[in-house]
Amino acid sequence: MKLITCTLLALALFAPLAQAKLNVVATTPDFAAIAREIGGDKIELTTLAKPTEDPHFVDAKPSFIVKLNRADVLIEGGAELEIGWLPALLDQSRNEKLAAGGSAHVLCSQGIQLLEVPATLDRSKGDIHAAGNPHYMVDPANAKIVAQHITDALCEQDAKSCETYRANLKKFNGVLDAKLVGWQKILEPFRGREIVAYHNSWLYFGSRFGLKIDLFLEPKPGIPPTPAHLAEVITKMKTGKVHVIIVDPYLNRKTAETVASHTDAIVVDVTQFPGGVKGTEGGYIPMMDYLVNSIAKALGTPASGPAR
Ligand SMILES: [Zn+2]
Repeated sequence: MKLITCTLLALALFAPLAQAKLNVVATTPDFAAIAREIGGDKIELTTLAKPTEDPHFVDAKPSFIVKLNRADVLIEGGAELEIGWLPALLDQSRNEKLAAGGSAHVLCSQGIQLLEVPATLDRSKGDIHAAGNPHYMVDPANAKIVAQHITDALCEQDAKSCETYRANLKKFNGVLDAKLVGWQKILEPFRGREIVAYHNSWLYFGSRFGLKIDLFLEPKPGIPPTPAHLAEVITKMKTGKVHVIIVDPYLNRKTAETVASHTDAIVVDVTQFPGGVKGTEGGYIPMMDYLVNSIAKALGTPASGPAR
């Protein structure tokens, strides 16, 4: 009896503590990584997409509905990144707290200068970037905007820890600012160089670091490569002396390797999500470290072989 009483007492004492943490759900691991920086151990964090999953086509498991139903805060990228899988889950989760426009629903794209926004919305050709390019997180300046949105939302939902969230934001921004100077220095010698990407998700990285990333293995975002299109890419790579191809983990590396074999190019594994490639597990800043260093290394490798 005594034991039962003790157990009940312990439950009564610890239950409020267990519930004290904000339940935060992030759609993709990049937003989750920023939420972790700001929320630290004061939040319970769930990430829906895996770091090796295509953010446009996430496998929407029924368990996500339960997670969304219990969420205090939802963080999504917006700009139609999650349009193919999130809206239906949100509907089914019946969590009024997460209503669009509410402070518990963080739309990270707000305030971000989106690139490639078309003059008219047109999905007829299968273009999945119909609202502009949604892969803005690989520009550290945009990560800072997102960090601010997340801080504001956490403060709104959990005022008692706001001071901690603001201190974490300040620390994150400080480290990021210092790192950015170093990253720009590493990539400076390669200013103006061209890189081929599989999918058009590296525009913001290119514009931040002075690289041209506008040649893609996909003929259009979301449309798989065709032999005719790849032949065109190969010709352009030879003409432009382009010898680096970057590939995200969820895309077909073999296609990139085939193109590389015709152009004497190097294939570099990249990711926009911490944990997507070995060495990026530590968070947003380690991931950016990896990206800058691996791309600089490939660009710095002298091209050789018959294609030159
Ligand atoms: Zn995309």
